Parts: sequence; structure tokens; C-alpha cells
Amino acid sequence: MSVVVLLTLGLILARLAAELWLAALNRRHVLAHAGEIPPAFRETIDEPTYKKSIAYTLAKGRLGNLEDAWSTMVLLVFLFSGVLPRALELFSNGLGQSAWAMAAFLFTVGLALSLPGLPFDWFSQFRLEEQFGFNTTTPKIWWADRLKGLLLAVALGYPLLAFVLKIVEWTGAWWWLWAWAALLAFQCLMLVLAPVLILPLFNKFTPLPEGSLRERLLALAQRTRFRARSIQLMDGSKRSRHSNAFFTGFGRFRKIVLFDTLVQQLAEPELEAVLAHEIGHYQKKHIPKMLAFSAISSLAGFYFIAVLARQEWFYRAFGFAPGNVAPALLLFGLLAGTVTFWFSPLIYWWSRRYEYQADAFAARVMNEAQSLVGALRKLNEKNLSNLTPHPWYSGFFYSHPTLLEREQALTEKSGFRPI
Ligand SMILES: [Zn+2]
Repeated sequence: MSVVVLLTLGLILARLAAELWLAALNRRHVLAHAGEIPPAFRETIDEPTYKKSIAYTLAKGRLGNLEDAWSTMVLLVFLFSGVLPRALELFSNGLGQSAWAMAAFLFTVGLALSLPGLPFDWFSQFRLEEQFGFNTTTPKIWWADRLKGLLLAVALGYPLLAFVLKIVEWTGAWWWLWAWAALLAFQCLMLVLAPVLILPLFNKFTPLPEGSLRERLLALAQRTRFRARSIQLMDGSKRSRHSNAFFTGFGRFRKIVLFDTLVQQLAEPELEAVLAHEIGHYQKKHIPKMLAFSAISSLAGFYFIAVLARQEWFYRAFGFAPGNVAPALLLFGLLAGTVTFWFSPLIYWWSRRYEYQADAFAARVMNEAQSLVGALRKLNEKNLSNLTPHPWYSGFFYSHPTLLEREQALTEKSGFRPI
């Protein structure tokens, strides 16, 4: 075995080991607090709901372990069984080496890689989520979602892949810079088009009806100088009882979207606080900052692929012949996660900082913290969130601080005390 193969194998197995170990830590931590509700949550949650949240956390953990082990195995089979060079040969023999043919090869491998995860998605939705009372998806909706996803990938993903490979042909040594620019342009276009063209394929959006809630939210938008075209209600209940809120679009096309489940679960001041938090993200410019970071990362990624594509040893190690950029793109796509996994605590630490900032913003414009605290408590309760994750586990996997951390920050640092 070559050094490259050993190193790759080491990276993949190290990641799996870390995932399983973190999950075990978390499980032990949750079980240690399972006996009785920790004092900090006695006002938040009742005994049966707390027990249910523990059972839900443990069940999700078990499924997650199986899924991690399974997807690692699938990745190893794809990488080391020789199936990928063999598939490339078949595509090259049948379709030639054109950008369109190589894009078809990459697309097919991507599709094949997504298939082994389907039974897990199915089980998670129709067994686990069902068992805990969250599932409202019917098998028909589930299959329709997958079909729509596939059609979108064919309509958008495949041409984009082919275009990137065309750029390699057209631009020579600096192709990575041009390909990156093309991807960036595509992403910006999607930011504008997705809310208008793609989201409506999956959900129904209706304007929030006239009434006290709408007036309250519009008044908040005005007070915080957040210009939004409309406030929309999304039929999230079509798939799940989990709840959420977000906004989409840019500039004039900006839309505030509330899940219907959220509106059912929260009182009006709490909904106002959630929206204030979302506006906080906007006013603090978190979104452009995140986009800039992801643009810089993808530039680094493309440069790295261009370097890999010139390394004969790298191609040989995985059974490919050099001289074609497609295997470098593919191997990068397959292996990037094994490296970026180790940076996730850093990324999530950054993301959690933004959450604190948005919370503080919400408390400031609401002139009180209690509504947001109330909303967060209800959301954690209704979604059966893990109230006591192990700090290392949340460090690796949580984009948001835990309920307790957010409550503490809201009541202590901002000077607002819940009554
Ligand atoms: Zn947030």
C-alpha cells in the first residue's frame, strides 16, 4: 500500500473514531443527567417531556452512530475497490473525454454515493421522527421530494459541472480561478432565484394574514430599519412538527419566512423576539461575512484541486491515469470532509458567537430579554432538544449555543433579567 493510501485510510478512520467517541461522551453525559431534571430547567420543562427528550437524544445518537459507520464503509468501498477508475474507463470508452462526458461521470458517481444513505433517511423520518411524534411527511411527499431534488440536480448541478470542466479546457493553468468565479456567480444567482423558483417547489408560501401579529412584526421591522418585501407563512407542518424561521433573498426581494408550526407554538411577543433575532443577524452583517468566508474557502479548495490535478503520484495511488482533472475533482469531493471535520469546532465557535450577538440585538430592540428566553425555552421543549449535551460534542456539532448558555448570556451579559 502506498503512503497516500495509508494516510487517506488513517484520516477517514480517525474521523469515524472521533465521531463515535464524541457520541459516546455525549451519551454518557446525557445519561448522567437523566435521573432528574437539572435545576436550571425546572421551570422550562416537565418531567415526562424531559424523559422524552432524553429518549429522543439517545435514539438519534444510536442512529447517528450506525449512519457514520455505514457511510464510512461506503466511502472506503468507493475509494479502494477500484470501482471509480473502472467507471471512468467505461464513461471514457462510451462517451469520450469531453467536458459533458466527464461531468456525466462525476454526476453519476455523486448519485450512486447518495443512494446508500436513502434507507437511513427513510428510517429517520418514518420510524424515529414518527415515534417521537414529529413526522407529518407521507411516503408520497417523501418520494416526491427526492425526485424533485434529483431533477434539480440534473437541471442545475450537471450543467454547472460541465461548465467548470469546460473552463478547464478553455483557460489552462489558471482554470481554478475562473472556475471559482463561475461557481461564485452561480451561487449569487441562486441566492436570488432559489426563494422564487426552488423553495416554492417544495413548500407553499402565503402572506401572513392581516391582524395583530402582522402589525407587530411590521412595526418591529420598521423600528429596526429592516426593509422586507413581505412576511410569509410556510407550510412546514406538511413535513414535520419541528419549527423554524428564516429570511431569504436579497435587497428588494427579501422575504421573512415563518414556519406555520412556529406561529402555532409561540405567543406573539415571542415570535417578535425570534424575528428580532433574525434581523440581528442581518443588521450585524453576519450573512455577507459567512458568504465571504465560504467564498474564500472555495477559492482555496479550487486551488488545492488544481495542485492535486498535477500530482501523478496522487492519481496513481487511487488507480487513475493522470491528465484529466475529473478524478481530482472527485477525490477532493470525497475526501474534503475528512479534513474539514477537524475545523468544525472553529467554524461552529464562530457561528455561536453570531448567535449570541443576534440574541443581544433582539433583547436590545425588544427592550427586554424575557420574550426571547420564553421563545427559546418553548422551542427547545417542543423540539425535544438535548438540554445537557457534552461540551465537546456541542463544540463539534452545534451551530447554536445550548439553551442554558443563551439564557445565561441574555440575562447576565445584556443586563436584562427574566422575571
Ligand atoms: Zn440565529
